[in-house]
Amino acid sequence: MITDQIKNDIDEIMPGVVADRRHLHEHPELGFQEKETSAFVIQRLEALGVDDIRTGIAETGVTALIHGTKPGDGKVVLLRADMDALPITEENDVEYVSQNKGVMHACGHDAHTSMLLGTARVLMSNRDKFSGTVKLLFQPSEEWGTGGALPMIEQGVLEDPHVDAVFGQHVSSGDPTGEIQVSGGPIAAAADSFKITVQGKGGHGASPHEAVDPIIIATNIISTLQTIVSRGTDPMKSTVVSVCNIHSGFADNVIPDTCEIGGTVRTFDAELRDKAEERLTSIATSIAAAMGGTATVDYHRGYPATINDDEMAQLVRDAATEAVGEDLSKPLAPGMGAEDFSYFLENRPGAFWMVGCRNEEKGMVWPHHHPRFDVDEESMSFGIKTMTNVVLRYLNGAE
Ligand SMILES: [Zn+2]
Ligand SMILES: [Zn+2]
Repeated sequence: MITDQIKNDIDEIMPGVVADRRHLHEHPELGFQEKETSAFVIQRLEALGVDDIRTGIAETGVTALIHGTKPGDGKVVLLRADMDALPITEENDVEYVSQNKGVMHACGHDAHTSMLLGTARVLMSNRDKFSGTVKLLFQPSEEWGTGGALPMIEQGVLEDPHVDAVFGQHVSSGDPTGEIQVSGGPIAAAADSFKITVQGKGGHGASPHEAVDPIIIATNIISTLQTIVSRGTDPMKSTVVSVCNIHSGFADNVIPDTCEIGGTVRTFDAELRDKAEERLTSIATSIAAAMGGTATVDYHRGYPATINDDEMAQLVRDAATEAVGEDLSKPLAPGMGAEDFSYFLENRPGAFWMVGCRNEEKGMVWPHHHPRFDVDEESMSFGIKTMTNVVLRYLNGAE
């Protein structure tokens, strides 16, 4: 569906896309504070002449429409980019290094935003090649708090016009530049967190029989939590339970009053997610009770699992094969990270794919969220070509 002419159009705009990405990289902003980023996006969209620009959605979110002029049925496809950066001090020695000290685009959301602007530019100059509507969506805060996706959906971005399908992409420093990876089914986990507070009874370290030691209760809870995975999860399915912090005590001869345990639970399967929460709560409270103390559990549900629609993932796979070549179009192995694009996929069919941005020769090998993370900018043309072709194939009803 994508033509050589459109591929050429994309190659021609790449210097502008790179310049946009560098501008955004130099001016990173944290979640729900993307004021300059959003102003930059709006200015670009206005210059492109897209329709119905709406701003300030969930603080800094932006949507806009591009109407195809080819006769045909009027489906609406949503393309999403996230805009936020991270509280990290950049350690890269590049001319576009972050000017906002302590804040850094260390996950590649600068590339996502500029790739979506680039895709918009190409679609605007090729409106006669598709029917229906493209809804561009620039989202705040993928990394932080409730995430920007859910509040944007709550504020109605999937309606007016009604969105039929949703697509998004993420760069991946683990994979070579230009490789497009997508698969149907779960691709990222649900990410929950917990805090268990064990209440014992403090006392003298020499008289344990007069105290209720919250530390020994906590260690029993922690070891038994491991059985949620080892004894409670179908071996062919995945759950992660990680205790990541424990705090208690202050002196070598004092049994403390309380002990706090914190950690994360990751699952793909909704039933396993419910079960993990239920088992975690029951293990903590019953072990504490059996040992003469009490435990309170504060279980917080984060982003749900990201589950690609099989048919839409196949559409992306075909679009990628055509746009970037068979050797760069690959299946995607699921990971236990989390992504709030999941909320879009809970509401509409769609797919999320990865764009390799690793380049060993350029030293761009650092993982996401690392102070030396960087995106091989050549990867962005592969992302734009794939995204453009996804739109063309979806709206034109490609076989
Ligand atoms: Zn990230
Ligand atoms: Zn990210």
